[in-house]
Amino acid sequence: MLDSIKKIFSGSDEEMPVSTTSKPDISREKSAELYEKAKRYFPGGVNSPVRAFKSVYGTPLFIKKGDGCFIWDADDNQFIDFCCSWGPLILGHNHPKIREKVTEVMQNGMSFGAPTALENELAELILQHNKLIEKIRFVSSGTEAVMSAIRLARGYTKRDKILKFEGCYHGHVDSLLVKAGSGLVTFGETSSAGVPQSFAAETIVVPLNNREAVEEAFSQFKDQIAAVIIEGVPANNGLLVQDKEFIQFLRDITTQHGSLLIFDEVITGFRLGFEGAAKHYEIQPDIITYGKIIGGGLPVGAYGASAEIMGHISPDGSVYQAGTLSGNPVAMAAGIAQLTELAKSGFYKDLNKKTEEFVEALQRFASARNYKFRVFSVGSVFWFAFTDKDIRAAADIDPQSMEKFKILHRELLNRGIYMGPSGYEVGFVSAAHTKVELEKAKRAIFDSLDIVFRTK
Ligand SMILES: *Cc1c(COP(=O)(O)O)cnc(C)c1O
Repeated sequence: MLDSIKKIFSGSDEEMPVSTTSKPDISREKSAELYEKAKRYFPGGVNSPVRAFKSVYGTPLFIKKGDGCFIWDADDNQFIDFCCSWGPLILGHNHPKIREKVTEVMQNGMSFGAPTALENELAELILQHNKLIEKIRFVSSGTEAVMSAIRLARGYTKRDKILKFEGCYHGHVDSLLVKAGSGLVTFGETSSAGVPQSFAAETIVVPLNNREAVEEAFSQFKDQIAAVIIEGVPANNGLLVQDKEFIQFLRDITTQHGSLLIFDEVITGFRLGFEGAAKHYEIQPDIITYGKIIGGGLPVGAYGASAEIMGHISPDGSVYQAGTLSGNPVAMAAGIAQLTELAKSGFYKDLNKKTEEFVEALQRFASARNYKFRVFSVGSVFWFAFTDKDIRAAADIDPQSMEKFKILHRELLNRGIYMGPSGYEVGFVSAAHTKVELEKAKRAIFDSLDIVFRTK
């Protein structure tokens, strides 16, 4: 996502070089046609920038169907999908339980703008299995969840500043579309036109995995920081796994200064387990945001906290937040169906084990050939990095290495493997990825890596 922001402004539409590989390029005729048309209707031909394939070769693939771990594009190419709609589809595409529940609920209408029992049902399911929050509020996207959580933190603490980390993405919230300036502790510089500098000035940006920077920020702005926000496990700019000690340090320093700790678990929530990264680290944040998986493929976001903190949200409290389609019954139905499956015993254990075996096999292959390639992973999330170093902060990523990802991406498409179209994006394994398909994927990745490292 961060990558996509950068690419939008560089905005070059590179010609695809002639293939030098053993596999011919897949046909993209119909996709290319649809893309030409789409460019007349939408900026860049897309409704979300990263979809435009600006960081990889070729025109974007238009997808017409998904089933299990497979997707098919407009030209009838079939792929094993590791993007999984950027995370929501933890059960794979078109899961029968979700489809049936949604179809059933739809018979009664799409939206009422009044409470429904389905909202209670999804909330109950979540709160029963998640002891980190006592009350929850449903919204319609991850961005909305984060925006609301920030407002809540500010309303609750009566402070204005937010501390975020370079390399964490929290949706396209104005005050969080900021990047670090030069220096260890900086006010954000806007990373998008249209964000007033005065908004960015309320956001302090520091590097990940750097205690000194956080301490420095707290000593400079002690009574002004409403909250520290961090992704459960930063997974939008590579996978930047943080030590438990660093997260514990954030817990301690926020408590000590009367600031709130917000975990943005839009990716990690219901991905690393029902209680997300908070449980993974055994750390209790003050506010948690959810999205992606929670809606089973339909647009749902949520934020939750203790009853006391949530008591500040309107109509109980003075922090306003609302939504015409919030808690939409059809979306709730999808969430209920998906989370019901996830709550079954052994679900995460199986998924994580399968992913671990997959990832380890890839790493063994690359290491045996001395390729400068590492697979970082947590739970069922993985990231391919063309490096031999440990990567824990955004600055550890070599932008040059993305050239290798471009080649890899194309070779993978040619071998029936679909990954998010940017080397900064993580991949997801779903419950629908069977051993057989993972085996096929492994072989395709091995072949593609051989080509990447043969290409000068
Ligand atoms: C995807 C994401 C968001 C934004 O969610 P949208 O539904 O795209 O608005 C926010 N935070 C994190 C950590 C995300 O991964």
